[in-house]
Amino acid sequence: MSETTPFRRVLVKLSGEALAAPDGYWLHPPTLAALAEDIAGSVKAGLQIALVVGGGNVIRGARVSAAGWIDRATGDSLGMMATVMNSLALETALNAAGVAARTMSAVSMPTICETYARQPALHHLDKGQVVVLAGGTGNPFFTTDTAAVLRAAELRCDAVLKATQVDGVYSADPKTNPDAVRYDRLTHDEAIARDLKVMDTAAFALARESRLSIVVGSVHAPSSVTAILTGRAPATQVVP
Ligand code: UDP
Repeated sequence: MSETTPFRRVLVKLSGEALAAPDGYWLHPPTLAALAEDIAGSVKAGLQIALVVGGGNVIRGARVSAAGWIDRATGDSLGMMATVMNSLALETALNAAGVAARTMSAVSMPTICETYARQPALHHLDKGQVVVLAGGTGNPFFTTDTAAVLRAAELRCDAVLKATQVDGVYSADPKTNPDAVRYDRLTHDEAIARDLKVMDTAAFALARESRLSIVVGSVHAPSSVTAILTGRAPATQVVP
């Protein structure tokens, strides 16, 4: 991998929706297997990968609490548990794809998976294992984008790859504006000056302060993670 990618260790952030079935069911095993094969390919080529997956395919605390029957903190607890379900599914698929993966949760669930701690996570990564970071930050009122940036900074990752529905950061919404232009490279400050949405505000602020690069690309192409990280697929790099 090192001959084709500038990165040694990357945190890959997947939204929960990346695991969902075309009919909306929360989990789609063929999609899960394809994602796992893709990530396993990069790992076998020598890249160290930490993975954060969201829970939006199951539940989002802000959304469910807006309906009024549950408070936000409890709704967010449901969301964090959804990320654990997604993480265990990804761990299973990665192991089936031939790479060792282990889930570490920020919310302690010792009968189900390891609890996240930085030193053991670094040790797993150094051994070439994929660390699947579940439970977000472990706190309500945050998102898994913030968890991704936080863990990437803690675990000394070279970049966060945010795998999304679109192949980069655009000057306007490409779905509604045909004149929207995709940026290849931007600085954090340029993204702020141009009012471009790269991640949620808290996550982006932490990335900027930590001088952490963010790569935004599409999860939809085959082997998209490997293709983005080796520069074969279009993406936007947001750099310090
Ligand atoms: N969540 C939380 N704290 C965190 C991360 C996530 O409370 O640090 C909850 C929150 O309710 C969030 C849900 O988990 O809506 C799922 O995460 P997210 O919305 O980031 O998932 P994605 O949109 O990436 O699928």
